[in-house]
Amino acid sequence: MNETKYIWMDGKFIDWDKAKVHVLAHTLHYGLGVFEGIRFYETSKGPAVFRLKDHIKRLFDGAKCSFMKVPYTQDKMNDAVLETIRKNKIKVGYIRPILFYGYGKMGLDPTGASVNAAIAVWPWDSYLGEEAVKVKTSSFIRIHPKSTHASCKICGHYVNSIFASLEAKEKGYNEALLLDHEGYCAEGPGENLFIIKDGKLLTPKLGNILSGITRKSIIEIAGNEGIKVEEAKIKLEDVYDADEAFFTGTAAEVTSIASVDNKKIGKQSPGPITKKLKELYLDIVHGKVKKYEHWLEYL
Ligand code: PMP
Repeated sequence: MNETKYIWMDGKFIDWDKAKVHVLAHTLHYGLGVFEGIRFYETSKGPAVFRLKDHIKRLFDGAKCSFMKVPYTQDKMNDAVLETIRKNKIKVGYIRPILFYGYGKMGLDPTGASVNAAIAVWPWDSYLGEEAVKVKTSSFIRIHPKSTHASCKICGHYVNSIFASLEAKEKGYNEALLLDHEGYCAEGPGENLFIIKDGKLLTPKLGNILSGITRKSIIEIAGNEGIKVEEAKIKLEDVYDADEAFFTGTAAEVTSIASVDNKKIGKQSPGPITKKLKELYLDIVHGKVKKYEHWLEYL
């Protein structure tokens, strides 16, 4: 792992190696906790965090769904993220805030367990690599929205993601694609899905998927570029038949999809629209496009 020097824990900076929790921490046993994945990039004005406030808002929305009384405000968490980057003196990397139920209570009801917070940062390269990825439809379906708050980034949801991801990798693919309970395309284990057909961008509707911040950004960017965008129910056959397809996510950024279930997508990967949106997204996160500078939180 790419260690850095300090982790922010419950308001204090702790040495990376000493940032520990008790083995009876409630979240460790039952998975009710919330986390975020955020990236910061180098720009000509120094490091900048991409859409920090949106990520921290999603974290707090998830905490609310989890009946968690967070002992910090969103502003305090935003500041703590920026402080953690400054303290570790790194210019580009990944940020992992987590809110979890700690020690103090066993049994399902977390009332009585402490609510703890931590923020770690570390350098992290591209998540799925630079090449277009080979994708396999998962035998696991995306968590049912009536079983949980599917739009929140809850720790326990990632069991579903990890099973799908490990299954795809075991079969020789780079990533999985999960269908929803109705058989429509949902998302990747840690990414939202986009396809392009006849110049139009299509992405699964919200409801059964995580409301990705990169997804939201790409919808806005594409719209501003005059590309038609539609949030729709997407069948697997639509993906097989697409001209282009890509995943979006904080970690994955914009990652072109080369094939799904060994069916080649389009004539080339990445295709022209994917390429254009990927380049624009990377320019935006690096502070090169004035119009989107309000998405950046400079250190
Ligand atoms: N779907 C899932 C299941 C995810 O874990 C992520 C990563 N947070 C995404 C989509 C993409 O979300 P974002 O663009 O906010 O990182």
